[in-house]
Amino acid sequence: MEMLNEINNVVISPYFNLSEFTCPCCKRVMLHPKLLVKLIELRKILERPVYINSGYRCPRYNQKVGGVPNSYHCIGLAADIKVKDINLIELLEICENIDFTGIGFYEKKNFLHLDVRPTKRTRWRE
Ligand SMILES: [Zn+2]
Ligand SMILES: [Zn+2]
Repeated sequence: MEMLNEINNVVISPYFNLSEFTCPCCKRVMLHPKLLVKLIELRKILERPVYINSGYRCPRYNQKVGGVPNSYHCIGLAADIKVKDINLIELLEICENIDFTGIGFYEKKNFLHLDVRPTKRTRWRE
């Protein structure tokens, strides 16, 4: 059914479409409003696109890509992002100010993991 191509093609803010957050394998999606609000804040500060490398992941896809079990990606609280023409350290500092509770710094792969976990602030580096 051709209509299904339009599933999740929904504008959810001036900067993001729901389809950017869907699981690549099954097109299912969960997205916490708190995560979206912080990503919009980041987008406004940067004044350039924030690419969602990975948003929601179903448990099967999470396992496939080697995500940790019970990853915050599996409950709509996390996104891995990439921004062009900005130093990753600089991007990290901006994200620290927005106060994401979880931030993973992936230097070699050049992306940040950001999440809004309800528990204490967590930082890691790979
Ligand atoms: Zn999936
Ligand atoms: Zn992640």
